[in-house]
Amino acid sequence: MLRRGRQLRAVVLGALLLLGQGARAKESPSSLPPTMMTVTAAEETPPGLRKIADQLMASLTGDKRLYPRLVTLCDTFGPRLSGSENLERALDWILAELRRDGFDSARGEPVLVPRWTRGEEQLSLLTPQPQRLSVLGLGGSVATPAEGVSAPVVVVQSFAELSPELARDKIVLFAPPFSGYESGVQLRLLGAQKAALAGARAALLRSLTPQSLGTPHTGVTVYQEGVARIPFAAITTEDADRLLRLQRAGQKIEAKLLLRSQDLPPSPSRNIVVEVRGRERPEEVVVFGCHIDSWDVGQGAHDDAGSCLAAWHALLAIREHKPRRTVRLVMWVNEENGSAGAKAYAAAHGHEKHVLALEADSGVFRPTGWLFSGSDAALAKVVRVAGLLAPLRASMVGVPGGGADLRPLAERGVPVVGLQVAGERYFVYHHSAADTVDKVDPVELGQVAAALAVFVYGAAELM
Ligand SMILES: [Zn+2]
Repeated sequence: MLRRGRQLRAVVLGALLLLGQGARAKESPSSLPPTMMTVTAAEETPPGLRKIADQLMASLTGDKRLYPRLVTLCDTFGPRLSGSENLERALDWILAELRRDGFDSARGEPVLVPRWTRGEEQLSLLTPQPQRLSVLGLGGSVATPAEGVSAPVVVVQSFAELSPELARDKIVLFAPPFSGYESGVQLRLLGAQKAALAGARAALLRSLTPQSLGTPHTGVTVYQEGVARIPFAAITTEDADRLLRLQRAGQKIEAKLLLRSQDLPPSPSRNIVVEVRGRERPEEVVVFGCHIDSWDVGQGAHDDAGSCLAAWHALLAIREHKPRRTVRLVMWVNEENGSAGAKAYAAAHGHEKHVLALEADSGVFRPTGWLFSGSDAALAKVVRVAGLLAPLRASMVGVPGGGADLRPLAERGVPVVGLQVAGERYFVYHHSAADTVDKVDPVELGQVAAALAVFVYGAAELM
């Protein structure tokens, strides 16, 4: 098997290499750009499997219940931040609906999740002209003092520009133009600590998005032990660019930031777990899923409710065809600000034999392929599985890959794969009030469900 895998990898790599294709997994395990490969493995596909793959694609691209169910979830429960009532009510509803679908195995497995709450937020420009600006605290940010932080604003493009001479007692605004999520996310994760080390009192971030209509984007930030914890919030790209222009014009800028966020004690939540037992090898598991928590603005429709609904209906369709191995759907909780769900799943199930783990967390857009991390032997099989998706034009396989919720499994040696989509619009909505269900195309949602069903069923047969 290993030899064949190496041959296949050589053949595939020798075919067509396209660098930087497709949307990256949000937290892919490597900072290297993925290598995408075109795949032709159809000659190895058993005809019976080919037929079932075609049936799965037909039923899911024509699934009339799928989009309405996503609308119900998004519109009824709203955003689903870890520790919120909204999330727990949404989880209750999903479990009840899964049981109505006849999934007796559907259960909530306990997870203790962090509970950060946003509270009141205000950002006021004081100089050169009083004006309220849109602001959205970054997840995990500490509050400002009760009276807020009023200070001169200094705009920088990178950590390298920071110095105590420049930043001491200021509000530092990080405002480089968007040049990809992966590079921007370092500013969001580390900006507060870097600014604090230079003596700043608060920090702001130009929202991580390629395009904006006045909407700030949140996301998690982290503090470092022993470094002062200063408040950190996102502003719109429009306001960030304006403040940069004012600074370049030599104008004095002053602002007042007020955040009343709170870090409350962790609270109980759940991973949703539901499975279809394998007909031949029930003890071997193909696990796939999404994360069911979201940020506390918008509806988390693309991130990641759409993938959860697609995976759910994929499992419904798979059940009809009795997979060889057990197929397990997990809707992980707390991906956005802690990954407690991923850790709890690995702790509870890490001893089981997982032949493959898959996550969809790049928005629900037209599927294009898969990014993989694991052994050559597993890669060879994944290439065969992906070949089943040629009719959907979603057969591309690249390395490396995975997903944030798969990391604890990957560390245990489980091969991991992430769904890739034509997600040019993803970061326009991501982590903002604009990530609502009206942004999801029902046709593309059906295609994601079809891609997940075929890939997971194929893996349960062929891995
Ligand atoms: Zn996500």
